[in-house]
Amino acid sequence: MVAGERITFIEGKLVVPDRPVIPYIEGDGTGPDIWQAAVKVFDRAVRLCWNGKRRIIWKEVLAGEKAFAETGKWLPPETIRAFREYRVGIKGPLTTPVGEGIRSLNVALRRELDLYACVRPVRHFPGVPSPVREPQKVDMVVFRENTEDVYAGFELEEGRKETRDLMEYLLRAHGWKIRPDSGIGIKPISKSGSRRLIRAAIEYALLKGRRSVTLVHKGNIQKFTEGAFQKWGYELAKEVYRHEIVSWEECDGNPPQEKILIKDAIADIFFQQTLMRPEEFDVIATMNLNGDYLSDALAAQVGGIGMAPGGNINYEGGYALFEATHGTAPKYAGLDKVNPSSVILSGAMMLEYLGWPQAAVRIGKGLEKTFASKKVTYDLARLMDGAEEIPCSRFAELVCDNMEE
Ligand code: NAP
Repeated sequence: MVAGERITFIEGKLVVPDRPVIPYIEGDGTGPDIWQAAVKVFDRAVRLCWNGKRRIIWKEVLAGEKAFAETGKWLPPETIRAFREYRVGIKGPLTTPVGEGIRSLNVALRRELDLYACVRPVRHFPGVPSPVREPQKVDMVVFRENTEDVYAGFELEEGRKETRDLMEYLLRAHGWKIRPDSGIGIKPISKSGSRRLIRAAIEYALLKGRRSVTLVHKGNIQKFTEGAFQKWGYELAKEVYRHEIVSWEECDGNPPQEKILIKDAIADIFFQQTLMRPEEFDVIATMNLNGDYLSDALAAQVGGIGMAPGGNINYEGGYALFEATHGTAPKYAGLDKVNPSSVILSGAMMLEYLGWPQAAVRIGKGLEKTFASKKVTYDLARLMDGAEEIPCSRFAELVCDNMEE
């Protein structure tokens, strides 16, 4: 095996050697199919860009069914250790173990590594079937908070003593009457958690020359959680970015060329606006539940979750885990059938994050050309006129060929 080096993080910056070791989890169900296809695309893109000077040294780590079969654990501690040590990794989809202590392996990984920003870019590739008339107008990047809100997992079950105790306390202390046959969930939204997420969204917008950042919230109803998120976002923009950012009120909706606009939207109407006027939105910062719904709804506009990439990132330590956003699609496991685009695009995001954007651009071009050729996997072929259905592995080969130029 060729020796690789660790990625480090010095003075707030990722330091990436020419041969970084990148741990990967193949994933369950169709995970091995899409991973085998995608890794060929990543390696080819890097080779085409740097002709051997740069190369990724892949290191397999275990999680999910493969880990359980080999070690008796769904998420072995060595896997967490490897992601900590090597800092940047990528994963396929994982089965959620039923009846185990871990609620979800994905949630557990994000929590262990404090990957507080779930970043989901959404853009359309020409030719990819879409349920909307003008999918090319969708070009947004959702920053969804990953550690609070419903993801905190603070829930008590209906009928239990601790649930009744909490209800009694809430009645005594606040006069809150809750129907006795209720389950209870707690929604924490912190100032520090909100600020670091919104900061990541703003920094991204500045770095990528994006035009606006929209804070999406339900602050009209939940003033001290969702409303506070909006308030803290504006405060942060004023305190830290007053030279780079302007609010809607300050410029009447017309920001000067050199400044980014910060605005906000109530979550429910935002769903309508992203369907009717998607071109008005760019970078989105929001809490966990809004972001969960929103990123899948936006993905649907550009071809569905089979096409949507994602990355879970802690920008304060450089830790990042990129992932296919769909599930394991177990009925297609081993059939070499499903669409590998989500994990391929997640790898492109990872290459960009590593500071190797040339390789990411090549992958984007390779995908564009492949979609345009109408030789695609079953999910797209069934929606495209005149398409030829090809297997997952063949699709990846075509992407590789189409990256050559
Ligand atoms: P799923 O695996 O995403 O599959 C649902 C359907 O989505 C599939 O039947 C297929 O639709 C389509 N699909 C998914 N991936 C595709 C791909 N790469 N190419 C083309 N079509 C694709 O969702 P699920 O059946 O609800 O979940 C199965 C398992 O995955 C569960 O254990 C769940 O917990 C887990 N999961 C993991 C993650 C993750 O690791 N990030 C995310 C979600 C779910 P058609 O059959 O209609 O073609």
